[in-house]
Amino acid sequence: MSVRVRFAPSPTGPLHIGGLRTALYNYLFAKKMGGQMLLRIEDTDQTRFVPGAEEYITEALAWAGIKIDEGVKEGGPKGPYKQSERKDIYKDYTRQLIDKGLAYYAFDTPDELDALRKSLEEAKVDNISYNAVTRMQMKNSLTLSEEETKSKIEAGEPYVIRLKVPLKEEIRFKDIVRDWVVVHSSTIDDKVLMKSDGMPTYHLANVVDDHLMEITHVIRGEEWLPSAPLHILLYKSFGWQAPQFAHLPLLLKPEGNGKLSKRDGILGDFPVFPLEWKDPASGEIARGFREDGYFPDAVVNFLAFLGWNPGTDQEIMNMEELIEAFDINHIHKAGARFDVNKAKWYNQYYLRQKPDEELAIDLQIEDSKLAVSLVKLMKERVTFTKEIKSQVPYLFNEIETYDQEIAQKKWDELAKNAMPEIISILNTIEIFESQNIHDALFTELEEKGIKPGKIMQALRLAITGQGKGPDLMLTIEILGKEKAISRINKALKIL
Ligand code: GLU
Repeated sequence: MSVRVRFAPSPTGPLHIGGLRTALYNYLFAKKMGGQMLLRIEDTDQTRFVPGAEEYITEALAWAGIKIDEGVKEGGPKGPYKQSERKDIYKDYTRQLIDKGLAYYAFDTPDELDALRKSLEEAKVDNISYNAVTRMQMKNSLTLSEEETKSKIEAGEPYVIRLKVPLKEEIRFKDIVRDWVVVHSSTIDDKVLMKSDGMPTYHLANVVDDHLMEITHVIRGEEWLPSAPLHILLYKSFGWQAPQFAHLPLLLKPEGNGKLSKRDGILGDFPVFPLEWKDPASGEIARGFREDGYFPDAVVNFLAFLGWNPGTDQEIMNMEELIEAFDINHIHKAGARFDVNKAKWYNQYYLRQKPDEELAIDLQIEDSKLAVSLVKLMKERVTFTKEIKSQVPYLFNEIETYDQEIAQKKWDELAKNAMPEIISILNTIEIFESQNIHDALFTELEEKGIKPGKIMQALRLAITGQGKGPDLMLTIEILGKEKAISRINKALKIL
C-alpha cells in the first residue's frame, strides 16, 4: 500500500514554526516513500476561525517548497479536503456508532454538567469526568427510555453525541517515535463526538477523515499524543485499522526548558512564524522568517535538523537530499532546543552559495552593475541580503562623523602628507576597478617611499568614516573616482 500522509492544520491563526516542521517531516517521509502528501483544513471549530489563516498556511507551505498532492486547492479523489464541507459525512458515521451501541445522545444542560462536577469535587473523586461511572446518573440515551430519547430529539432539545468509552480496557499502540504507549480506558472520559450545533469535534472528524482519506501514517506534534489513545479507541469502535502514529518531539525554548512560545521570540528577538502575520482582530504584527530575510532553503534545512539528523556529520542538505536521507525511525524522542543562531548560520551558508546576480536583484538597486559589485563586496560578511546595503551606509550617504579613536591613532602627519599623493594617483587611473586601484596605489606609493600599510587605515577613515570594513579597494571602486577624491579632500579639511 502506498504511503499517504496529511498535514491537518486548523485555521485558527498563523502557523507556528513547529507546525511548519510537522508539515516538512510529513512531506519528507511521503516523498522518501514515493507516497502522497495531503493538506486537510480542520475548520470544524467555528468559534476559533480566524480570517486569513488558511491562506497563510498555504502560502507558508509554498514558500518552504512543500508541495501538496491533494488538498483544498489541488483537489483529489478523497475530497472535499476542508472539514466544514464534510458535515454530512460525520453525521453518517456518528449514527453508525450509535447504532452499534458505542455512542449515545446526551441531553445534559450546562447547569447539569456543572452540578455533576461539583458533586464529584465534594465527594473528593479524583477523576472528575463524564465517564463509564458517572454517565449512568446523567440525562442521556443510556438512562432515558427509547421513547423519551426520541421525543427529546424530535422536540428539538439540544444534545451532543458522546463516545461510550469502556470502563476497563487497556489501550495500546506502538508509536514510531515514542514506542509503546499504554493507557487505561478509565482515564478517558466519554468524549463528545458531535456538538450541539451538529458539528463534529476534532477527534471524530480527524479519525473519520484519516480513515476515508486512506492515511497510512499520522505524523503530528507531541501535543496530540494524549489524544491518540482516544483515536485508537475510535478506530476500534468503527472496526477500522488505525494508521501508524509518529508524535514529533516538541520545539523547546532556547534555554531548553518548556515549549517554544511566541513570547520567546519577542524576548529573544527572533521570529517564531514562517511568514509575517498581522492579527486581523488586534492588528498586532508577528515577525516572520521570510520577512526577516531568511531563505526558505535555509529554514527548511534548519527545521529538518530540529528533531532528526541523518546520522552523519553532514549538516547542509537541500530538500532533495533531505528526502533521500530522511528516515522516520530516526526521529528523536527528546525535545529539540530552538537555537536562532543555528538558523542564522544556515542562512549565512545559503547566502554564500547563491549566485551574485541573484542576490543583486534582491537589493533593488537600479544600477545592476553596482548591485553586483555590492554583493561581491559584502557577501562574505553578512547573514542576510538586507545587510549588504545596511552595513555600508557610507556608500549611499555622505559621511557625517568619523571614528574618533581611529582618527587620533591613524590620521597622523604621515597619512595627511600621503593623501595628496593618493589623490593624484587615483586621478591617473583610467579603468577605475579595484585591482587597478590597488596596483596603482601600492606601486606608486612605494616608489614615493611611503609604506602603503602604514596609511591604509587612514585612507579607509577618509573614505568610509570608519576604521574597519569590507575590502577597501572595492569600496573605492564602487564609490567612484570623483567621490573618493572628494572624500579625501573633505577629510583633509575636517580632520
Ligand atoms: N487540527 C489539528 C491541529 O491543528 C490536527 C492534529 C493532527 O494532526 O491530528 O494541529
